[in-house]
Amino acid sequence: MPKGRKTPALEEYARKRDFTKTAEPRAVRRRTAAKLAYVIQKHEASRLHYDLRLELDGVMRSWAVPKGPSMDPAVKRLAVEVEDHPVDYNSFEGTIPEGEYGGGTVMIWDRGTWEYAGDTTSGVAGAKRGLEKGTLEFTLAGKRLKGNWVLIRTRRAGKAQQWLLIKQRDRYASGTIDVTEKYLKSVVTGRTMQAIAEG
Ligand code: MN
Repeated sequence: MPKGRKTPALEEYARKRDFTKTAEPRAVRRRTAAKLAYVIQKHEASRLHYDLRLELDGVMRSWAVPKGPSMDPAVKRLAVEVEDHPVDYNSFEGTIPEGEYGGGTVMIWDRGTWEYAGDTTSGVAGAKRGLEKGTLEFTLAGKRLKGNWVLIRTRRAGKAQQWLLIKQRDRYASGTIDVTEKYLKSVVTGRTMQAIAEG
């Protein structure tokens, strides 16, 4: 887990994985494109969770969200910051072998682009400052998730940095739609978790 981001991006990612055993992408930083990538991967590992990833500085900043996103602004979802992932990881869907780090099934649950939505500084600089300060307001343009969101850091000390993922009030907010129940198939291949697991 990043502790005050002393670990250089992607080193932790590479250290945790044996690329002779897993088909996950290797640790390569990419040049930042005009639009920043966003993805959520549903990950059935030892515990089911949803990995939210936002591109910044050529890597995917990542949070494991045990219950997944909620469209209800009254609901706060725990989001545990995890190691940066390569941008190539956004197209990874499949199985990680049992016994390897993160062993289990990965589904691309949503994807698209994101942008910083804070009002003090614009663009990447504002996003970096927001993450440093512990409040990141952002807008998602995914296939499934859209509109404004915020990540708020609640605990910096200790092993894992904990954040809360909260939907902001806008026309996409809903207190009645459970998106994790509504969307049970891959946004890319249309496969269920079981179909992905069966390869
Ligand atoms: Mn995961």
